[in-house]
Amino acid sequence: MHTHILPKQLPNFAEKFGYGDFIHLIQKSDNTADMMQGEKFFRTIESNCWDPKLRIDDYEKFDTQVQVVCTIPVMFSYWAKGKDCAELSRYLNDQIAEICEANPKHYLGLGTIPMQDANEAIKELERCKEIGLLGVQIGSNINDKNLSEEEFFPIFKAAQELGMAILVHPWNMMGMKHMTKYWLPWLVGMPAETSRAICSMIFGGVLERLPDLRVCFCHAGGSFLPTIGRVEHGLNCRPDLVAIDNAKSPREYLGKFWVDCITHDPMALEYILKMQGSKRVTLGSDYPFPLGDLEIGKFITEMGLEQNIVEDIFCNATLEWLDINKSRFDV
Ligand SMILES: [Zn+2]
Repeated sequence: MHTHILPKQLPNFAEKFGYGDFIHLIQKSDNTADMMQGEKFFRTIESNCWDPKLRIDDYEKFDTQVQVVCTIPVMFSYWAKGKDCAELSRYLNDQIAEICEANPKHYLGLGTIPMQDANEAIKELERCKEIGLLGVQIGSNINDKNLSEEEFFPIFKAAQELGMAILVHPWNMMGMKHMTKYWLPWLVGMPAETSRAICSMIFGGVLERLPDLRVCFCHAGGSFLPTIGRVEHGLNCRPDLVAIDNAKSPREYLGKFWVDCITHDPMALEYILKMQGSKRVTLGSDYPFPLGDLEIGKFITEMGLEQNIVEDIFCNATLEWLDINKSRFDV
């Protein structure tokens, strides 16, 4: 789970809607394209971003049959008008649904929804379910608003009712403007963003009020799990600041939500497994991007973990998160 995909072609939404820095693609060759944010270059991507067959072959090299795909967070476009973002979301979601339908043994899909507009978001969430997607990916903040804001609660409630899983991905990193050097938004900002999202959903009582909502956080939960002691102590020593919407200890939520295993570090993963239990640690890759675990799970096989724990990470945790059966992938 946690891999990114894009359509090979993107309509020019900025032209269509008449505003905004919507992402468009400039095809460089058969195998490469530049992602442009308005007139600004964002990153070059290769055909492993859009070619379903090539991706299956790449995964095969690491004995991985199935990939859970979602868009690239820069496509969220939460800053756009709700209706326009809904249209963009539908375009991206339909493409993912098509790939999943054409390759049911290899692909599972997560959609994207216009979180800035709860009505539009719920409509698209319902449609995602109808077209066979199993959940949605959302950002760690929505236009700098935290996931604890009441305006997002109806969306989470709808996700619980529909049985749609939620993947929370860090993006729009806090402090980004002040740390442009050394790739710090990715190395420092992203783990902090993920912790921001988990703390917001715990302290805001989202996980408490929606116990059946299946949420997974990227990159092993970012800095949340390594700082759980501090976070819990914060609640205990300053409940007047922290425990205003939910008095329960953050520790009580460990093992209730999911995280992926992207740590690049056996000792870190051992700790994550201790905190979460192997049923709540999924096999993430962040494919096809270089900061991901592109040797999908190789370091895990070398850790000497018990077989049942490896199996939990390699498939059971994801199956449970998405509420599906292993048998659908029998070949
Ligand atoms: Zn990612």
